[in-house]
Amino acid sequence: MIPEAVIAEILRRTDIVELIGGHLPLKAAGRTHKALCPFHTEKTPSFIVNPERQIFHCFGCGEGGDAITFLMKHERLTFPEAARYLAERAGVSLPTPRSAGAGTSETDGRLVLVEVHRQALEHFRENLRGPEGSGARDYLAGRGLTPALIERFQLGCALPRWDALLRALKRRGHPDRLLEASGLIVARQEGSGYYDRFRHRLMIPIWDVSGKVVGFGGRALDHADGVVKYLNSPETALYRKGMHLFGLNLAARAVREQGRALVVEGYFDAIMLHAHGFENTVAALGTALTTEQAGLLSRYARTVVLLFDPDAPGIGAARRNLEHLINVDLDWRIVLLPEGLDPDAYVRTHGTAAFAAALEGAQDLVEFFLDRRVSGLDLTDPVQRARAADALIEVLATLDNPIRREGYIQRVAQRTGITDRSLLEAVARQRGRGQRRDATVTSAPPPASPPSAEEQLIYIGLNYPAWRQRIASALAPQDVRDPTLRQIFTEFIAGEAAAAPQGTSRPMSLHPPEIQRRLSSLWARDPWSPNAQEEGERLPGEADHETLQRTVDDCLARITQSRGAALRQAQRQALEAAERGGDLDQVLRLLSEHPSVKRGRERNEEESTA
Ligand SMILES: [Zn+2]
Repeated sequence: MIPEAVIAEILRRTDIVELIGGHLPLKAAGRTHKALCPFHTEKTPSFIVNPERQIFHCFGCGEGGDAITFLMKHERLTFPEAARYLAERAGVSLPTPRSAGAGTSETDGRLVLVEVHRQALEHFRENLRGPEGSGARDYLAGRGLTPALIERFQLGCALPRWDALLRALKRRGHPDRLLEASGLIVARQEGSGYYDRFRHRLMIPIWDVSGKVVGFGGRALDHADGVVKYLNSPETALYRKGMHLFGLNLAARAVREQGRALVVEGYFDAIMLHAHGFENTVAALGTALTTEQAGLLSRYARTVVLLFDPDAPGIGAARRNLEHLINVDLDWRIVLLPEGLDPDAYVRTHGTAAFAAALEGAQDLVEFFLDRRVSGLDLTDPVQRARAADALIEVLATLDNPIRREGYIQRVAQRTGITDRSLLEAVARQRGRGQRRDATVTSAPPPASPPSAEEQLIYIGLNYPAWRQRIASALAPQDVRDPTLRQIFTEFIAGEAAAAPQGTSRPMSLHPPEIQRRLSSLWARDPWSPNAQEEGERLPGEADHETLQRTVDDCLARITQSRGAALRQAQRQALEAAERGGDLDQVLRLLSEHPSVKRGRERNEEESTA
């Protein structure tokens, strides 16, 4: 357990805007920041980050909380993992964690693996700086990598030995079982013992978006036969193939600023493009781009330019992923560099300006595949034209978005001379025949209802400490009908925490999720302008005294009124029961005690017939 005071300290030293800005493309909107919500699918941003409160809240799906909550949700970390991560980032020292390998849960295992990777990174970097790193340094210099670039990408090297890393990690006291789980150390198949997976290689760390090393890529420095040129970490609890993009942690800012990401295949392509000022470059890590990677990109980019090698395998890989990619809501483009050059070679041979020009010539990905399907076919020949049409229809039918689909159908019609209508029909048939994709229905969030009286009072109580006492003395907990709001009222308005300036002394992430969602919504919203999240300009703290006075009086009156109505309702029910039961004494007693009951009933009847 991390003490509450330490959690509070970690949060005080963390800037939530900076943290979330590293994960999502945030746009300043007045005094808050906005983004498309990562927790539900939406077209217009309803995800707000509020720097004054250090909270986030989505008005679409209701998610909300503080920096720890964000990491837990977004990176699927546990509470201690998120807290430890932020602590490290903020330089807050924590009570000593359990010793390496002592943990049994998966969570502890992952945490320790992060530590093992950090230590391995240190080891590889030391090697590169040391006397045994001269070969690797020469190799890097030969490829045109400056010391600054080596530092930026934290490159290192594995020594030409069987146990250099093994010994270094053993010295840190890690048990064998853990080292094996890291994927960096391999158990011998015969006999006992372990050895280093990466030997005599240039080592390139692979980071996740939050800046943790999750694996390594190793480029052989040994040119002997049978040595694999590139070797990557195997899948571990930290690293899964197709889930990460190399360089994204470094490229995120540039991608966000430009709205565009460049995707290359190799590590050195990415590194060299960064070196030439294309800092929005990531590498797909040896796989064709997966849907998960595409999803990762869509958090930061609107346009993605694929730079695949123009040789057949590259294209084949890209084509196999056509369906996933074109249906991820991004503007997909592709560039084939001339002369069979990869981006690294191209930019070194032709320079930055030529490369930028090549990017400008990027072709729409769907068009690219349409073109390839008809290339070499003679469209004036009826048989070949029919064959071309079949091939084009197959591509068109993979597009899920009907508007995009029709747009491409028109373009194909123009090019081939086949009528729109025949194409539309053929595509519809093809889609009907093909495996029907489950329509992904994103349920629209319910429209924001105007805040209720109790909600407004609690909002004021939270945001304007001066009003807390007035509200606390005028309301009893049972007056607050919403159970979540009642809890917030009890703790923050009427309870001990009311004395704290923020209305809460406890870090938000220590509260149950439903309280966090409600609190963040109350803190993010302005009740005088319920659509403030659209405008983003007005923030709490701006209402003048008179407005507050009026609102508090009005809300209390509304609550008193509904409390009275509820009381009358109860009395009426008692009266009716007495009448039905023929208990005349009781009827008379109730009527004399509460003369208004009868009146209330009549009024009610009038209302119901009206
Ligand atoms: Zn949302």
